[in-house]
Amino acid sequence: MFDYLIVGAGFAGSVLAERLASQENKKVLIIDKRNHIAGNAFDHYNEAGILVHKYGPHIFHTNSKDVFDYLSNFTEWRSYEHRVLASVDGQLLPIPINLDTINKLYGLNLTAFEVDEFFESVAEKVDKITTSEDVVVSKVGRELYEKFFRNYTRKQWGMDPSELDKSVTSRVPTRTNRDDRYFTDTYQAMPLHGFTRMFEKMLSHPNIKVMLNTDYKEIEDIIPFKEMIFTGPVDEYFGFRFGKLPYRSLEFKHETLNTEKMLPTAVVNYPNEQPYTRITEFKYLTGQQHPKTSVVYEYPQAEGDPYYPVPRPENAELYNQYKKLADQTPNVHFVGRLATYKYYNMDQVVAQALTLFKKISIRETNSENAGLLDGAFQKLNGHAVKLNGSATKIREHE
Ligand SMILES: Cc1cc2nc3c(=O)[nH]c(=O)nc-3n(C[C@H](O)[C@H](O)[C@H](O)COP(=O)(O)OP(=O)(O)OC[C@H]3O[C@@H](n4cnc5c(N)ncnc54)[C@H](O)[C@@H]3O)c2cc1C
Repeated sequence: MFDYLIVGAGFAGSVLAERLASQENKKVLIIDKRNHIAGNAFDHYNEAGILVHKYGPHIFHTNSKDVFDYLSNFTEWRSYEHRVLASVDGQLLPIPINLDTINKLYGLNLTAFEVDEFFESVAEKVDKITTSEDVVVSKVGRELYEKFFRNYTRKQWGMDPSELDKSVTSRVPTRTNRDDRYFTDTYQAMPLHGFTRMFEKMLSHPNIKVMLNTDYKEIEDIIPFKEMIFTGPVDEYFGFRFGKLPYRSLEFKHETLNTEKMLPTAVVNYPNEQPYTRITEFKYLTGQQHPKTSVVYEYPQAEGDPYYPVPRPENAELYNQYKKLADQTPNVHFVGRLATYKYYNMDQVVAQALTLFKKISIRETNSENAGLLDGAFQKLNGHAVKLNGSATKIREHE
């Protein structure tokens, strides 16, 4: 009998498998319907021998020391700061928009102070910021919104930014300095030998069994287990009874070229003229030296694997219905981006999984203590019976 059946071998499932096995000595079966571990962070060497990310570029960054320290148990790191250029008006310009973006786009020579004034002069006054459009036009005005954001968002989401929750574009900052890093987190690094190698180490504990190519429905009634940790789609778990939670999908087109380098930086965004949103060149992320190079193009799709939950109020309401059911389901824990219908970065999912582990661990300690107390109580009871017996004997003597 397994203590835990864990559905999904991505970050959420693998962190919990590792913690439960190594810290609580639990017997864990972790399964995935795909033919590999590591979930969407899966990387592998392609036919040319280049390390690529099957499900699009995954760049690790976090402000959490706890998360970074935890993952450091399973990998060494390669320091990596991500940079992105956007193809706009025939030029490749830094994104997030910074001082250099504005100067190059308009052929100006503004200082940081002047660019701040420039943003103020073009920003539109928006009384209440509710949509993604509001976020951007209130910061950088309509022209930059049209050039850098509007079409990119329309391609990515199949919706106009005015129809999307403000959270979508609030992720993209604007800077008045020349900092061209995509992220500003304290820890920015890539696993030295790749994500999959890191997952292999996490799952190498003898208490963990891994089963691939398996949907949980094929085995849940056959293999005995005490509790389940579910990291798949929450609506699927409940048979879509309130309806399907909408996701935006992507098609990845991988290519290997007979040249050492294709792009001037790791990622180039194409907000306007192309059907794809961005191209990524993997060697920048991994630091690999190779005479050839591999890239991936991302084409947003309505149908396909669920990648991005669509942040609209009606979808949040639908999710809340599933969440209520999930909260009432005994012995099943729902964790990770699909089970909680939220776009999380990898570090956020690790943090979520570590928090769930703490809860389970406290519950285990409490029930162990309750067990110990119970034992002590029984012993006391035993003594009481013995004492009772002795008292009877004494009375018999009298
Ligand atoms: C294109 C793209 C780029 C991204 N880039 C970044 C980035 O640069 N940095 C960053 O921090 N984050 C990035 N992310 C987010 C990152 O992918 C997630 O944070 C992470 O994968 C979430 O881990 P998870 O375990 O919750 O989900 P997943 O990794 O999706 O794992 C869930 C697993 O469950 C399995 N599963 C589902 N249903 C079943 C079932 N019925 N039976 C068995 N198995 C099942 C799936 O096959 C999957 O392997 C990106 C996401 C996308 C889509």
